[in-house]
Amino acid sequence: MMNRKKNQAALTKIPKEITEHIIQLERVRRDFVANVSHELRTPLTVIRGYLETLIKKGDKESESHQKIFSQMYQHSIRMENIINDLLLLSRLESEDQPIESVDISVDEILRTLCVDAQRISAEKKHIITLQADPDLQINGSEEELKSLFSNIIINAVKYTPAKGSITIKWYRDNDAAVFSVTDTGIGIAKEHIPRVTERFYRVDRARSRDSGGTGLGLAIVKHVLMRHQGVLSIESKPGEGSTFTCRFPLA
Ligand code: ADP
Repeated sequence: MMNRKKNQAALTKIPKEITEHIIQLERVRRDFVANVSHELRTPLTVIRGYLETLIKKGDKESESHQKIFSQMYQHSIRMENIINDLLLLSRLESEDQPIESVDISVDEILRTLCVDAQRISAEKKHIITLQADPDLQINGSEEELKSLFSNIIINAVKYTPAKGSITIKWYRDNDAAVFSVTDTGIGIAKEHIPRVTERFYRVDRARSRDSGGTGLGLAIVKHVLMRHQGVLSIESKPGEGSTFTCRFPLA
């Protein structure tokens, strides 16, 4: 208790110049990530384009070449996804990007995302259920919220074994609008839960890579929620499943 008080007192004593320097460094870091991502995007698009052509041309003399091309193509797509997520994150982080707020029919968005989830689930044949209140709308950025809903739903598909179930809900709870996704998947051990919204934090690196994850989905979720005054909670048990809940205040 004494120590915490001491630390708080020390923090309030940080000179203004140092605080300004930290803010400046943070801005440099953000701009650097955004610039690198932007610079990499064009050459990568060219490489992917050429690989597409090589695959379409189909070099019949060498099947092994085709295998290599298609692996290179898959990796180039993965890199593009990472770059797009990094660019989205740096846009979300910059305070000078205000939200273009509109009324959003969340149930319509969720119905479309459910169809996408079913398609991605494919042979895993998950039972995907949607319970959404059609009269419950919120105000916010449609693009950002779509990304939030999609990241959590797709994660449920990725981390739930075949024939498992996924339940998506959108409902009012007192003065909040609530979006929740419950799955019967692999779950997350207690010690990892506070860290899964960190960039590139993965409980199981190989599994995330195999499922095509960028490691940035939940970091995006966290930022979108902050910009909408929302709160994320995660309940999970390894081997039993997880529930991701996002609460948005109804003004
Ligand atoms: P990724 O692209 O790796 O899925 P995310 O940021 O979306 O990155 O998620 C971070 C990590 O959190 C994942 O790698 C995975 O370990 C864990 N995770 C996310 N959602 C779930 C879920 N529904 N069930 C189990 N683990 C999950």
